[in-house]
Amino acid sequence: MSELRLTRELFDKIMLPVYNPVSFIPTKGKGSRIWDQKGDEYIDFAGGIAVNALGHCHPKLIAALHHQSERLWHTSNVFVNEQALDLACKLIKNTFAERVFFANSGAEANEAAFKLARYYAIRNYGQKKTKIIAFENAFHGRTLFTVSVGGQPKYADGFGPKLSNIFHVPFNDLDAVKKVIDEDTCAVVIEPIQGEGGLSVASPHFLQGLRKLCDKFNALLIFDEIQCGMGRTGLLFAYFQYGIIPDILTSAKALGGGFPISAMLTRDDIASTMQPGSHGTTYGGNPLACAVANVAFDIINQPDVLCGVEVRRRCFIAHLEKINQKYAVFSQYLGMGLMLGAHLAPSYLGQAREFVQSAAENNVMILNAGSNVLRFTPSLLISPDEIETGMQYLEQAIEKITCGRRNR
Ligand SMILES: *Cc1c(COP(=O)(O)O)cnc(C)c1O
Repeated sequence: MSELRLTRELFDKIMLPVYNPVSFIPTKGKGSRIWDQKGDEYIDFAGGIAVNALGHCHPKLIAALHHQSERLWHTSNVFVNEQALDLACKLIKNTFAERVFFANSGAEANEAAFKLARYYAIRNYGQKKTKIIAFENAFHGRTLFTVSVGGQPKYADGFGPKLSNIFHVPFNDLDAVKKVIDEDTCAVVIEPIQGEGGLSVASPHFLQGLRKLCDKFNALLIFDEIQCGMGRTGLLFAYFQYGIIPDILTSAKALGGGFPISAMLTRDDIASTMQPGSHGTTYGGNPLACAVANVAFDIINQPDVLCGVEVRRRCFIAHLEKINQKYAVFSQYLGMGLMLGAHLAPSYLGQAREFVQSAAENNVMILNAGSNVLRFTPSLLISPDEIETGMQYLEQAIEKITCGRRNR
């Protein structure tokens, strides 16, 4: 039984007021279905913000967690743990990487990436090589370094001095990068598909151009694949789609299928500038997290799961298009694979959050990405039946919004 003294109102009284969650409280999930305190059922098109790539309570993840929970929970980095080694082997075998660092959250993986890039550059090229180039509307996490590199002032302002020597230029604008990149640049940091920023997809020409510029100026190319990696685009990592290779890549969100874990991947020549003590974390690569992530990795990295992503995207878009023919709320579809955005039509601009709210009231969980884009980041295993039901709910939500409009 749920505890009904634990209410949404209580949240507003006792939690740090940095979130504004919807009114119902989820207590149970299975696949892409969620139940709230009252037992009402919801369809989950949000996937915990691209985290629950295998849905809720996948039996194999439960088994992995259960198995590990009876063996070893935590030992610290004073000791080697087998689960972390095993997961690192898988990441290395399937990517460009030769070295792995585990942390607990996306921001921490990026923090490690940015520190490594500066450390490497200073050691190899001198004290002045600290410039970081990043992009407008980028999101890299909420630590002070990661909000400084992120391209959204609303997340970075108000906390005193930011980290310096960080430059922001427009996404997909190679000429803008050319104007700021120089010998003092240590890294260019980019999400191949911007998540929080609105589902913009980097063009192949742009990423190939960044690769060439980084090579020319001895800067490291860092891909933040925290949201777009681990199968989300239909390939294991989004960089596979582009035929170029980053120097550092960060992964999190779907990596643990819902258990907190993140990773920073890089090459040996970059990693080997660091030594014991240069960086660290107490929990990173925790045995429980790695045990779950090992199994999540094996499931996600199967051809049928990865191929299913494009099939499901088409199914989502077909449904959205049907809704759109009736209500004309969307202007275009964005993103890649199951990182899908629906851009609102001109007369609904700025109202993404209202759509999210109305969807929740009509039993379907969706997200916004900025104020003009509805974001869908469901389980990679979501079934046709779950999509169908969720879309019926979404249509009801949209009908209410458009109808409320007409009556105004
Ligand atoms: C979510 C996200 C982060 C931050 O991850 P946290 O686990 O919230 O620290 C960083 N970069 C991208 C692209 C993300 O989507």
